[in-house]
Amino acid sequence: MRKIHLLSMLLFFSGITLLRGQQIHLHCGKLIDCKSKEIQENMSVIIQENKIIEVRKGYTQISPEHTFIDLKDKTVIPGLMDMHVHIEGESSKTRYLERFTLNDADVALRSTQYAKRTLMAGFTTVRDLGGSGVNIALRNAINQGFVEGPRIFTAEKAIGTTGGHADPTNGVRRELMEDPGPKEGVINSPEEARKAVRQRYKNGANCIKITATGGVLSVAKDGQGPQFTQEELNAIVSTANDYGMHSAAHAHGEEGMKRAILAGITTIEHGTLMTPEIMELMKQKGTYYVPTISAGRFVADKAKEEGFYPKIIVPKALAIGPQIQGTFAKAYKAGVKIAFGTDSGVSYHGDNANEFIFMHEAGMPAMEAILSATVTPAKILGVEDQLGTIEAGKIADIIAVKGNPLQDIKTMTEVAFVMKEGVIYKNE
Ligand SMILES: [Zn+2]
Repeated sequence: MRKIHLLSMLLFFSGITLLRGQQIHLHCGKLIDCKSKEIQENMSVIIQENKIIEVRKGYTQISPEHTFIDLKDKTVIPGLMDMHVHIEGESSKTRYLERFTLNDADVALRSTQYAKRTLMAGFTTVRDLGGSGVNIALRNAINQGFVEGPRIFTAEKAIGTTGGHADPTNGVRRELMEDPGPKEGVINSPEEARKAVRQRYKNGANCIKITATGGVLSVAKDGQGPQFTQEELNAIVSTANDYGMHSAAHAHGEEGMKRAILAGITTIEHGTLMTPEIMELMKQKGTYYVPTISAGRFVADKAKEEGFYPKIIVPKALAIGPQIQGTFAKAYKAGVKIAFGTDSGVSYHGDNANEFIFMHEAGMPAMEAILSATVTPAKILGVEDQLGTIEAGKIADIIAVKGNPLQDIKTMTEVAFVMKEGVIYKNE
């Protein structure tokens, strides 16, 4: 009963009223088959409720009992997945002040707009790597059909060390600073590390995010040094594994990256100063690299704009930002496993697909870039049996772009059709 109610609520958003048992037939001029890694022509995809029930060569016969969507001049792709966003916020000149002026409700209301923009850009799933906890409520509201947005896997609040990249009190007046602990995501021993992971689990996180080195956008001097001991990292990763959560490490410098990889971290984020030795280690350990070239370019650009960032951030942004695309090019060439991620929230939500252009510019073929945003993230999230390809039995997360992205990667930014869980959110 509840399921039917939920379905009708979801369908209400799409403006299409479907009766139970009715099908949606997509007539796809081109379809990117992420399994065979080939492009197929003149295909039909049949959807019933939230699932793909058949993928067929040729176009199905139009009939009055079903809904038919003409995507004959488009390329149909599995719903895209961004492995690094911060869905709660977005960069602006007032961002740092807003830490003191916005309540959770303000953050929550804004985040609904970021979520919608992300979905309309063709991203049907995102991994949210850190916010205040509003991200949990947003994820739940989207799952329950109250808000339109991508499916969210969230780390809730990132875990850092005192004065480290994820210490929420950095740069704050002494009497407002207090002494944040594991509950606030700040740890200073393996014991506290375990408590912080368990607290995230209790709060409803899907995964764990740590800040293994200094970072660009924190109000602190260091942008790349290690910030956890090996023992603390080991405690975090093993505790996360106990609770069925994978873990992601923000890392710019070599030493912090190395410790996180040795601890068994699932993904390295940014990876700016990655050396050939680190790339070898990642290949040995099966660690994924999430490059976030978009963030690198955004901060390097905005650091030149007077007053956009606090002064302490500018030199870090200018030093780190421009290097990420070059690191990505080397890591890709070296054969490191790559997963698509933008750090949107640093760059603007809805611009996520620009990352495809940057990856392609740095030497990755379009098909591989698309796989890094479909099949690979589904593996990282442990949902490869449900998402990542357009196949019978999978959840119907499907998008379409104008033109052919294998010929022109820029078409990834021209999303004309978005379906998530069988519900149409965009059809131009
Ligand atoms: Zn981030």
